[in-house]
Amino acid sequence: FDAPLTASPGLHWRNRFAALGPQFGTRLQATPLPAPHWVAHSASAAQALGLDAHWLPSDEALQAFSGNALLPGSAPLASVYSGHQFGVWAGQLGDGRALLLGEVDTPHGPQEIQLKGSGPTPYSRGGDGRAVLRSSIREFLCSEAMHALGAPTTRALCITGSPLPVYRERAETAAVVTRTAASFIRFGHFEHFAARNQLDALRQLADTVIDQHYPDCRTGAAGNGNPYAALLQAVSERTAALVAQWQAVGFCHGVLNTDNMSILGLTLDYGPFQLLDAFVPGHICNHSDTQGRYAFHRQPHIAYWNLYCLGQALQPLIGEPAAVHAALASYKTEFPRQFMGRMRAKLGLTTPHPAEGAVMDGILQLLADQGVDYPIFWRRLSHAVAQQQFEPVRDLFADRAPLDTWLLSYSELEALTGKAPDADLMLKTNPCYVLRNHLAEEAIAAAQAGDFSVLHTLQTLLERPFDEHPDYTAQAGFPPDWASSISISCSS
Ligand code: AMP
Ligand code: MG
Ligand code: MG
Repeated sequence: FDAPLTASPGLHWRNRFAALGPQFGTRLQATPLPAPHWVAHSASAAQALGLDAHWLPSDEALQAFSGNALLPGSAPLASVYSGHQFGVWAGQLGDGRALLLGEVDTPHGPQEIQLKGSGPTPYSRGGDGRAVLRSSIREFLCSEAMHALGAPTTRALCITGSPLPVYRERAETAAVVTRTAASFIRFGHFEHFAARNQLDALRQLADTVIDQHYPDCRTGAAGNGNPYAALLQAVSERTAALVAQWQAVGFCHGVLNTDNMSILGLTLDYGPFQLLDAFVPGHICNHSDTQGRYAFHRQPHIAYWNLYCLGQALQPLIGEPAAVHAALASYKTEFPRQFMGRMRAKLGLTTPHPAEGAVMDGILQLLADQGVDYPIFWRRLSHAVAQQQFEPVRDLFADRAPLDTWLLSYSELEALTGKAPDADLMLKTNPCYVLRNHLAEEAIAAAQAGDFSVLHTLQTLLERPFDEHPDYTAQAGFPPDWASSISISCSS
């Protein structure tokens, strides 16, 4: 299939991943998506790419991002990787339904553009290569919502839909999400070449990642003569920062397999994820995760487990096992440091103090004990600090005595540091709007019936999650009773 060329929106292509060589993937073109239509697009993601404002959405863009037309300069490719899934070595995986269109220069540096759901590839392992509208909407909304919250993430440029039937538990319809990132390289890419003892390819991949994304590992003091150990340490630190942000915003990924771990420390491959409603530390958002391996409170530990796999893969390049362990050890200091930093901002604390850890642990324990709604608690606390009126916070707790004790410890911290909590900081840290499961479900149900307005409204709210809109209080409120019965599996 030779896709027709479409009009160029002024993108400047570089395609450095495609230049790595044939052992890294397979050049191929997307399978055309019949009768495509627009579902949604992100003007801010388009702007970040430097795309002409009039080009997205346009008919040319619709065809290009449905996989029906080739953008001049793009060199599509499916990459090969491997990975550990649910703790077990899964062998070869790869872009089974994703297609890297290539890499473009943007005002913020080079960005890769990838289609997801664009048809089978040599790595589809019997899958249809497609993604359904339902999961595409979830990925699109959450990518943009996480970006707006300041969490490192791949971004989503647009969704195109089609009447093409796709069969999961039931018949659904196909969609393609276009997503962007500085790189889509995963831990699993390194594991792939290490497992096959293809050390030249492993080194080439590591050198590429260092040169393009972690140049300090070679040149700076960080390198310390072993750029590969420095890379492992830098990835460990970025991953620590990522997971700290997840735990602070209440994000549960759901499928933290090593093939879903970004080498850049980005949130990657949105599947059965969930933003917590009630604070339930052991919450399992993935219906298929019967053991709870990827439960919310296990994420910091699992990320380390995944880094350990990356360390094993890099071992042939690093040399000394001791150097691998030293690089990984940085995660164990960096995660708590990053997490406390995030929680400090949620609490409005601007000065570190030795007593802050107990205050943070205290409130998380209380929220867990009483199953308090996580986003609403933090938003109400922010307003309470701003207005010095704590009744709306107290109303969230069935048993108020322990909360009052905690509020006392919170105010004692103010006396200890000599600084009142910063309400403005809190209102810019604790969002009014988060992508709760039931909000996504409502947008999906309307979209499946051909109405995209619910999705677009939700997208607008999530793009500025700290701005309150008096007309949209329901989206900032408690989940309805039916939210707890939503079951999201890996099927997407
Ligand atoms: P995931 O669990 O979504 O991260 O996917 C794991 C692997 O399965 C990746 O290699 C995907 O590309 C592949 N995969 C998932 N769904 C499909 C599908 N519908 N068709 C082909 N490959 C798929
Ligand atoms: Mg994946
Ligand atoms: Mg997936």
